[in-house]
Amino acid sequence: MAAGTQSGGARSAPASAELWPHEEALKVAERVRRYEPSRPVIFECGFGPSGLPHLGTMCEVLRPSYVRHAFQMLATQRPTRLIVFIDDMDGLRKVPENVPRRDELVRHLGEPVSFIADPFECCKSFADHMIGLLGGFLEPVEVDHELIRASEMYRSGQFDEALKLILARHKEIIAIVAPTLREENRAGWSPIMPVCPQCGQINATAVTAYHPERAVVEFSCERGAVGAQGCGWRGEQSVLGGKAKVGWKADWALRWFVLKVDYELYGKDLIDSARLSGQILRILGGEPPLGFPFEMFLDEIGHKISKSVGNGVEVEQWQRYAPIEVLKFFLLRNPRRARRLYLEALPQQVDEYLDAVRAYAAAPNDEARGNSPLALVLQRKSPRRFDSQLSFSMMMNLVAALGSSDRNFIWSYLQRYDAAIAADRETEAMGRALMDCALNFYQDFVEPTKQVFVPSEAEREQLRKLAAFLAGNADASAEEIERKIYDLGREHYDKPGKIFPLLYRALLGQERGPRLGAFIRLATPARIVELLGAAIARTP
Ligand SMILES: [Zn+2]
Ligand SMILES: [Zn+2]
Repeated sequence: MAAGTQSGGARSAPASAELWPHEEALKVAERVRRYEPSRPVIFECGFGPSGLPHLGTMCEVLRPSYVRHAFQMLATQRPTRLIVFIDDMDGLRKVPENVPRRDELVRHLGEPVSFIADPFECCKSFADHMIGLLGGFLEPVEVDHELIRASEMYRSGQFDEALKLILARHKEIIAIVAPTLREENRAGWSPIMPVCPQCGQINATAVTAYHPERAVVEFSCERGAVGAQGCGWRGEQSVLGGKAKVGWKADWALRWFVLKVDYELYGKDLIDSARLSGQILRILGGEPPLGFPFEMFLDEIGHKISKSVGNGVEVEQWQRYAPIEVLKFFLLRNPRRARRLYLEALPQQVDEYLDAVRAYAAAPNDEARGNSPLALVLQRKSPRRFDSQLSFSMMMNLVAALGSSDRNFIWSYLQRYDAAIAADRETEAMGRALMDCALNFYQDFVEPTKQVFVPSEAEREQLRKLAAFLAGNADASAEEIERKIYDLGREHYDKPGKIFPLLYRALLGQERGPRLGAFIRLATPARIVELLGAAIARTP
């Protein structure tokens, strides 16, 4: 691959798993090498408006956008588009949990979601409502995209020529798809799904004859597929102009064919569908897009927390507990590896992001910054440096130790500990955003589960000794404090480290915590003496 012939010049090979979009971009560049210079490269992803957008949706939109971005850095002259294709002709398969008027919706199972009334009663259809939500949902991540609705493509006739082609080649398509289906579904499978003119069902109709020369199919409306009940209508009908859609696997092929899609990523559960869709596309005369199957998220570990907040971590939560760039960074990393995603891991994700920001700011030149994963993540107003050495975990612990939600008060502590946090505008902007997130996280998750710790008499003595040391050595360094704690540990336990759980319980009401020397400096010895005093005074 002659990357050096592309405008923008040669790039060195990407070094880490975060830089996969650059590898993918090289493949895209090779694919489109012979295209007319004005022909855009098409990146695509799908959105099913049969439910609310969620983290998976974000993932599907952001990941191809990274490849597109990397490609734009590589081939600066070539136009590109990112199409979010809306499957609003799909029949409603089940009523989502989190919508009103669920009883009414049950009666519309099997009808295309763009034909069903909006249960929220504010938009033209069920699909319109979900599409409206998608716009607001994607806004915070600043991903440049265009929406294309299946219903409009069908209705306007933009799919008509390809539909005729599918009708003409229906035997070959059926021969490919039928063997992959369960025995009982094979006989009835058709690449064409007509909309019943009498009842509006799309999942209940069964095609009985094809007439490619007139673009017509004969069908009956009777099958009881996925909750849909047919009305018994029989007859023939044109497949053009929105009167029919194609079945799922042919659907993907149709869209790739008509939109000339060059790149699409898909979840690992769709490997077989993607392969089959590629075969159908070849029958139509198209070339399957590039892309690869990505791994899914695991959220089992998050169950403890998810009870109160829904399943796993949702996008709204990221915005409450972490800067949105952290989510973008998370979704950029290792799409080929299954990732666990749960709220308790958020502080660590934030700290890894802060490390990346520090590395980005320290990069010697534009080329090095272009090679940073953050080049694909940063937004117009994202802080591009964070010169403080404070970690998000430390801030979370400070919020816990101060037990205050007064932002000015907490900020004064942070500034006293590390003046760098207010030394430049961007570091300060990031620092204040992190402080807000830490407060939200603390109020929502830490405070409600905080254990009030009552020390034993032996433990009281250890706490008293530490309080006395801090009271008498207000200027002790983090290292001196750390050394004192180890001395106390040696004095009272067989292994000095055994004193730490006691101190975390007494200071933070939790079992684990930060490096105590630095933390005590941050919270100040005076505040720690107060906290120790309060613990010592507690009686069973
Ligand atoms: Zn609505
Ligand atoms: Zn019907």
